[in-house]
Amino acid sequence: MKIGLFFGSFNPIHIGHLIIANYMANHTDLDQVWLVVSPHNPHKPKKTLANDYDRLHLVKIAVEGNPKLKASNIEFGLPKPSYTIDTLTYLKEKYPNYNFTLIMGGDNLGTLHKWKNYELILRDYQIFIFKRPHYELGTLKGHPSIHLFEDTPLMEISATFIRKCIKAEKSIQYLVTDSVLQELENSAMYKS
Ligand code: ATP
Repeated sequence: MKIGLFFGSFNPIHIGHLIIANYMANHTDLDQVWLVVSPHNPHKPKKTLANDYDRLHLVKIAVEGNPKLKASNIEFGLPKPSYTIDTLTYLKEKYPNYNFTLIMGGDNLGTLHKWKNYELILRDYQIFIFKRPHYELGTLKGHPSIHLFEDTPLMEISATFIRKCIKAEKSIQYLVTDSVLQELENSAMYKS
């Protein structure tokens, strides 16, 4: 089975994330896309970051009913901060029969050369790149492991904007799934 890994803080998950995950699950040879929720990094205090399990729960209910999309908490049990190469090594051990591919916004490609063991990542894994409003593809653009998808929908939706709306008591309908909308309405998340 071929799995695409889409990493993010998903604070909270919104339709921008879901449209990309579903695009990759349907327009490529991936069988599934896992949305990997990044746990809180103890070295980076961030008061706006919701609890790990609350963010994971929102991802779970957002992808419910789509057999190709899964929420993953794989990084919760790994040493923090989690480096992508370490997560990949762990996944390969845990799921020896699966083949993993990274899914990344074009905005991340320009700085990939600064990631821990990025040469190893590029040697052993394919990376599927989707479009972002502002990005610099940088020198790794032509690398054989990098695959650019030019027709991915481009959406300027950010979790930051959603959090701002919630705090200001403005509607976030259509920016998140109905299931996430309901859950957020009934919770204290992002309200203070
Ligand atoms: P924040 O506003 O809190 O920084 P975010 O909405 O940018 O959050 P993240 O969880 O940090 O979301 O992003 C996870 C991944 O999703 C990143 O690779 C990012 O490039 C991508 N992403 C974020 N917003 C969008 C969007 N509107 N469309 C497609 N991809 C997105």
